[in-house]
Amino acid sequence: MQLTESVDIAIIGGGPAGTALALTLCLYSKLTVAVIERTAYNDIRIGEHVSASLLPLLDYLHVKDLFLADNHLPVYNVAAVWGTSFIHTRNSIFNQMGEGYLLKRGEFDAMLAEQVFHHGGQLYLQTKCEEGEQLAGGGWQLSLCDNSGQRHRLEARYLVDATGRQAKIAKRLGANSVTYDRLVGICGLIDFQDNKSKAEEIIVESVSEGWWYSAWLPDGYLIATLMTDVDIMQQQRLHKEQAWSRMLAKTNYTRQRAAGGSLVYPLTVKTAYSHILDCAVGDDWLAVGDAATAFDPLSSMGIGHAIASGCNVGVALIEHFNHQGRLLVEYQSRLEANFETYLKMRRSYYEIETRWTQAPFWQRRATLIPCSV
Ligand SMILES: Cc1cc2nc3c(=O)[nH]c(=O)nc-3n(C[C@H](O)[C@H](O)[C@H](O)COP(=O)(O)OP(=O)(O)OC[C@H]3O[C@@H](n4cnc5c(N)ncnc54)[C@H](O)[C@@H]3O)c2cc1C
Repeated sequence: MQLTESVDIAIIGGGPAGTALALTLCLYSKLTVAVIERTAYNDIRIGEHVSASLLPLLDYLHVKDLFLADNHLPVYNVAAVWGTSFIHTRNSIFNQMGEGYLLKRGEFDAMLAEQVFHHGGQLYLQTKCEEGEQLAGGGWQLSLCDNSGQRHRLEARYLVDATGRQAKIAKRLGANSVTYDRLVGICGLIDFQDNKSKAEEIIVESVSEGWWYSAWLPDGYLIATLMTDVDIMQQQRLHKEQAWSRMLAKTNYTRQRAAGGSLVYPLTVKTAYSHILDCAVGDDWLAVGDAATAFDPLSSMGIGHAIASGCNVGVALIEHFNHQGRLLVEYQSRLEANFETYLKMRRSYYEIETRWTQAPFWQRRATLIPCSV
């Protein structure tokens, strides 16, 4: 067992929320920070559309220029086939903030992590936190293990769960996830032999079992994702290529985009349920980003929200270590108020689609009541 130097704040999970938090602490305080990330950012990362409102946040984190130099793809149109069989397009020319972007998602997450290291944070890649012990006098002793089997011990005054929707650390500390649906995304990456014309447009298209999202990615593939509930997926075996393709054939615009292409990898299934932790902050720990609250991808409250949440928690922790705990005291109630607003917005989006009100997927979205997963 190797003893590493101790830090003020250990962040488990190096996604957008964890790295935005770490960067805020590195740039705006003298607090020391370590990010522990289980991958080397070479896994398949889903979730790539961001709006231009991300840019001021990236500016705050001193990474806007790096982001703009990274050749993420501008996206000018968001189109929806929702509530009608016709397509409605919203051009970014009508958005004051300008166009959004389709990210090279792995590269984006890795860039943020590199900047944490660049600004003096410790970065443990391909490393998991195996155990965490809360010390009697306050703080934590963590047992880390990297993928070569090497173990490290890390001491921290404060622990942050930024592990994403699974909220692994917070749940180990006794928090419960209150979930409002069983949404999953079944994602296919599609390649084309010929030089198909690639409109810089996102298309969302509803079907009776859920809805499709499709976009051309910066690497030239088309991503097509079916969002449905996990029980519907299992009953109809929609995670299998044949049934997924049959469902794709039920669409009009998404099907046309995918025509002539073939899947690059097997389909990937990602959980996408809406949830809030009943207790996202405790003694010397808290949860941030998707770990604390996560939203339906339809709401566009994904990466941008995770980064904003990382920045806000950074400010709250700086205040906490300056012995002014107001923001942390209000943390849970702010999360709850925000989540309540989100639930109403989610219902109003789904209510626009009235063609399948008898179908279970759409019926379930008319309620604001939690379900058990
Ligand atoms: C199907 C789908 C489509 C989506 N599409 C979009 C989209 O188009 N636009 C958008 O803005 N958002 C989208 N999202 C949401 C978006 O991906 C998330 O909101 C965002 O990634 C949350 O960031 P985070 O840092 O909180 O969590 P994550 O991005 O999940 O990051 C968590 C990190 O923690 C690491 N980790 C997990 N467990 C451990 C552990 N035990 N030890 C160490 N590290 C660990 C993971 O490897 C990961 O790097 C989508 C989500 C889904 C499911």
